[in-house]
Amino acid sequence: MNIPDKKQPEKQPEEQPEKQQEINEVTPSPSPLERAGVRLQEDFPILQREVYGKPLVYLDNAATTQKPRQVVQSIVDGYYSANANVHRGVHFLSQQATELHEGAREAVRKFINARSSAEVIFTRGTTESINLLAHSYGEEFMKKGDEIIVSDMEHHSNIVPWQLLEARKGTAIKVIPTNSRGELLTGVYKGLFTKRTKLVSLTHVSNVLGTVNPVEEMIRIAHAHGVPVLLDGAQAAPHLGVDVQALDADFYAFSSHKMYGPTGIGVLYGKEQWLERLPPYQGGGEMIRSVSFKGTVFNELPFKFEAGTPDYIGTTAFAVALEYITGLGMENIARREHELTAYAMQRLSAIEGMRIYGAAEQRTGVISFLLGDIHPFDVGTLLDKLGIAVRTGHHCAQPLMRRLCIEGTVRVSLAFYNTREEIDVLADALERIRKMF
Ligand code: PLP
Repeated sequence: MNIPDKKQPEKQPEEQPEKQQEINEVTPSPSPLERAGVRLQEDFPILQREVYGKPLVYLDNAATTQKPRQVVQSIVDGYYSANANVHRGVHFLSQQATELHEGAREAVRKFINARSSAEVIFTRGTTESINLLAHSYGEEFMKKGDEIIVSDMEHHSNIVPWQLLEARKGTAIKVIPTNSRGELLTGVYKGLFTKRTKLVSLTHVSNVLGTVNPVEEMIRIAHAHGVPVLLDGAQAAPHLGVDVQALDADFYAFSSHKMYGPTGIGVLYGKEQWLERLPPYQGGGEMIRSVSFKGTVFNELPFKFEAGTPDYIGTTAFAVALEYITGLGMENIARREHELTAYAMQRLSAIEGMRIYGAAEQRTGVISFLLGDIHPFDVGTLLDKLGIAVRTGHHCAQPLMRRLCIEGTVRVSLAFYNTREEIDVLADALERIRKMF
């Protein structure tokens, strides 16, 4: 696919004195990343393209993020010059590929501050990470009548694996409700624990409301009951960074493709003392030490959970993505996104008929809304024709939609490479759509 001509660079503040004054009300001191906004977009070739003859405004980052040049180049370089199956070969290429793959594991360990790279299991994504744990933990530690606590703002990926376990074993799911601001009711949560509670599995950040849940406190409460906690970090790791030791999370799941890395790579972090006690999820090559028809001795951690040839080209590229974002600084990213979110909230909430879902104190740049009585699908389709990519629908969170008594929303989700000008384009487009209806 040809990459069309580059967009015009952002206008400099001095060319827009009025706009700048308005912006300054929200963001008195632009962060270093903000000042470098144009350069950041240039690192992402796809952001230079047009759709329907309009500059692309990509605001669907919670679904997947775009990839910087370095990540794409790493995939090309991997297949051009470092492709060989890992772990098994004595030859040069295999050893080089193994070093890159295991180097990527170490890069993930560092990013999440795990104690040991044995605690980093590569999977295909958050969904597979949660399914792995549901099988493995469910098999070993849960029996009929045992309970799992989740919340009503979970992505289907953190509901359905527990329902499959329920069907297999007769376990039960208990649900923490949210208040009207989209915050979890921690008081109710405390009362859900019983002697049968075996696991808490919670989203760190809601993919619909942007709520950052008070997971440190919730983990402390679970641990006081002797219950381990899995956090679904799909929407947190790219925006807040992760320190699994500071959180004291027992398990943590996330996806590379939402973190500027390639698709098809994810991570399940687990405390070593838990992972040692869990049985393998899948059988095959890589996860064994020895096999005979009398039985199999499993490999050590983390390989016990990694059956078959891993996507070593993908893991290597994921490490490049992590290097890219840590180079920018996770604090800078969080600050930049916070500023963009404040500006977007200000512009969107000024539109007549705008209903924004989620008003949590702590939030990320995920903004779900409805505009008057206009169907979200119509809003999304019209925005698309103006070059603006947003998501519409239930966002794989149908129980939350039911709780909100709606079928779906329009969802805008920001990344650090978005700009205020793009938010202006969105807000102006929504004004036009409102007037059309
Ligand atoms: N959990 C949350 C909160 C998500 O937002 C998503 C994806 O949108 C997932 C889980 C599933 O991630 P993946 O499709 O990468 O497995």
